[in-house]
Amino acid sequence: MSNGKERIAIIGAGLGGAVAGALLQHAGFDVNVYEQAPSFSRLGAGIHMGPNVIKIFERIGVAEKVVSISSTPSHWFSRDGISGDYRSRIPLEGYGATYCTVHRGDLQGIQCDALQPGTLHFGKKLTRIDDNGTDVLIEFEDGTSVRADIVVGADGINSRVRETLLGAEKPNYSGWVGHRALISSDKLRKYDLTFEDCVKWWGPDRHMMVYYTTARRDEYYYVTGVPHPAWEFDTAFVPSSREEMFSEFEGYHPVIQALIESTDEVTKWPLFNRNPLPLWSRGRLVLLGDACHPMKPHMAQGAAMAIEDAAMLTRCLQETGVNNFATAFGLYEANRRDRATRVQTVSNANTFLLDQEDPSWVYGYDLYAEPLKSEKAA
Ligand code: FAD
Repeated sequence: MSNGKERIAIIGAGLGGAVAGALLQHAGFDVNVYEQAPSFSRLGAGIHMGPNVIKIFERIGVAEKVVSISSTPSHWFSRDGISGDYRSRIPLEGYGATYCTVHRGDLQGIQCDALQPGTLHFGKKLTRIDDNGTDVLIEFEDGTSVRADIVVGADGINSRVRETLLGAEKPNYSGWVGHRALISSDKLRKYDLTFEDCVKWWGPDRHMMVYYTTARRDEYYYVTGVPHPAWEFDTAFVPSSREEMFSEFEGYHPVIQALIESTDEVTKWPLFNRNPLPLWSRGRLVLLGDACHPMKPHMAQGAAMAIEDAAMLTRCLQETGVNNFATAFGLYEANRRDRATRVQTVSNANTFLLDQEDPSWVYGYDLYAEPLKSEKAA
């Protein structure tokens, strides 16, 4: 077990990094989290947090809070985008914890608040890492630097830590974009239509996932997947428009037309991914989440996999202590690679829950109930 003195640095306070920090701190480790952004704003997006994640949130005391601010749908419906016929009705209850849909910024706020005061450092953009075999020197764009015993790269799809391990390589553009918009529920009252809690509308080559992001159900959210041959912009997203949305979803169901008509602001995001990496760690550096296995978001499990990584990494470091980090990192990869790669593959294929199926392998998973596989057994 750790003596609580080893220094762990986490790069990135996104959905995986913040939870990794909180879990490791709860386990008694000395952890600091370094985030490039000067602060976080309430970006216009929602997110699903499945029961597999809520079970992890219980360990850092935020599960109840997350559930209390979320919409908690009883089913995921998959419907034909044009006729409205139901392809599947997937129960979301019975997996050992609540299924939540929530505003991403609200979730991120709760996660960051779970960190010990003074351990989350904003405005710290990692520029260089030097693992000298004894410890790691971490340099930031603002000219400051720190040392740590191990470094967790939770710095997302364009991870600088991944680049240090494996060299510079741009992620693959998938040929798809996602449009995202938040709509005030007030705007939907005038329609004689039902706006279901959690529904994915499927067309032959595109879809729209729709759900509430608050417990009060006063904010409705959609995110699409639409083919788009090339991403010609340098920015993370660009503005889209109601006109573009009407044209992308021409002839689709009246509920979709009502959502587009009620849209004030919509943004368009490129969907990137990577092939599975040949290694998840080297020396004192280890990766988690999108830095390691980014995917198209169509299973709504990308952040969930980052959070499961965080929990498994903590569990392995608790087994070995930081001084024996090499064993911990090997165990971590052995216990995460198959599941993360399976989710990455199914998510990229965009087939999950289209037809009636049992999602227990995703939602029923309790990371803490799984026996740890040794590196050799993996
Ligand atoms: P991120 O959340 O990307 O966090 C990385 C952090 O590192 C950021 O805060 C970044 O600023 C910081 N950073 C980057 N570089 C540096 C640096 N050099 N120095 C310091 N800090 C740095 N997942 C779900 O589970 N459910 C969903 O419903 C869902 N919907 C999605 C919808 C869309 C349209 C998209 C694009 C993704 C969706 N995802 C969803 C996927 C999810 O957003 C990602 O998988 C998740 O955010 C990955 O978490 P992460 O912590 O690995 O990376």
